Amino acid sequence: MKAIRVSAFGGPEVLEVREVPDPRPQAGEVLVRVRAAGVNPYDTYMRAGTYASGNPPLPWTPGSDAAGTVEAVGAGVELKPGQRVYTAGTITGAYAEKALCKASQVHPLPDAASFAQGAGVWVPYATAYRSLFQLAHARPGETVLVHGASGGVGVAALQLARAAGLVVIGTAGSDAGLSAVLMEGAHHAVNHRSEGYRTKIQGLTGGAGVDVIVEMLANVNLAHDLAMLAHRGRVVVVGSRGPIEINPREIMSREAAVLGVLLWRVPDRDAAEIHAALQAGLANGALRPLVGAELPLASAPEAHRRVMEPGARGKIVLVP
Ligand code: NAP
Repeated sequence: MKAIRVSAFGGPEVLEVREVPDPRPQAGEVLVRVRAAGVNPYDTYMRAGTYASGNPPLPWTPGSDAAGTVEAVGAGVELKPGQRVYTAGTITGAYAEKALCKASQVHPLPDAASFAQGAGVWVPYATAYRSLFQLAHARPGETVLVHGASGGVGVAALQLARAAGLVVIGTAGSDAGLSAVLMEGAHHAVNHRSEGYRTKIQGLTGGAGVDVIVEMLANVNLAHDLAMLAHRGRVVVVGSRGPIEINPREIMSREAAVLGVLLWRVPDRDAAEIHAALQAGLANGALRPLVGAELPLASAPEAHRRVMEPGARGKIVLVP
């Protein structure tokens, strides 16, 4: 089968298409025929050998988020060949024609979601769900700011928050991103590259501040986020690409909280809740992963360049 292989850490050009042996599922394993693989920013940090949570042994095939059909199962697995599934992690990597997974990593994909959409479920939607509901305990009627709402996690957070009855403000940095933010569930869209946009957000809350912020670029925004919070407000740091200085008094004066999320640290019981919620939302149409670009597997280097560029609009997926 064809797979993307990384033999040395480096720039996007180290992502090469290679012929590799088909994996064979052992007991408790599933072989998935990949119809689409999601490209996440952390794939690029791992490719570069700079991922703070650990880099893979080489050679390596990137990708945790795939969607496709069950090709074969090992002993003791209840999934059936041909069944539509999405993955939450793999053993051999998602950027490939087939991906070997533990049975616990493979979940039924509702018919309402395409394979390309299924490739955008796990990392974006699970991170957004955990941030909003398991960490920030967002409640219907509260106001949420999705700071960086045009990309994978942002769109997921918009749809989840809107379906749960929150007042949703989303930011983007391009016109296409701003229209996507409104289409995908925000009541208000604000450009995070425009002068004075934080004042505009404060105005949208009538000066009360926002209850919850889901933050995609904390090293740029965290200090300002704290000043935008309501009393007992919560910021969840999803993404950060460096250090930042904050004033702890902004937290004290609001009795506020700063929380961090790391998807790899989600306990099994919480993960089961997340899958149940996401599958229900995909089935009833509340959750509709936005696929911004579908590229062939061989274009993995281009996908890695694009996912790190400004002007996000949903997910980039690779189609083997
Ligand atoms: P993505 O699809 O590339 O989207 C990035 C988002 O950040 C876009 O909406 C982008 O908006 C926005 N952004 C750019 N500049 C910004 C600014 N100054 N202020 C606010 N937002 C800004 O990435 P993603 O998949 O959504 O992931 C977002 C971040 O979370 C990444 O750093 C990723 O590594 C991290 N992440 C962490 C976890 C975890 O477990 N902690 C899980 C998933 C993702 P424009 O392009 O429109 O400017």
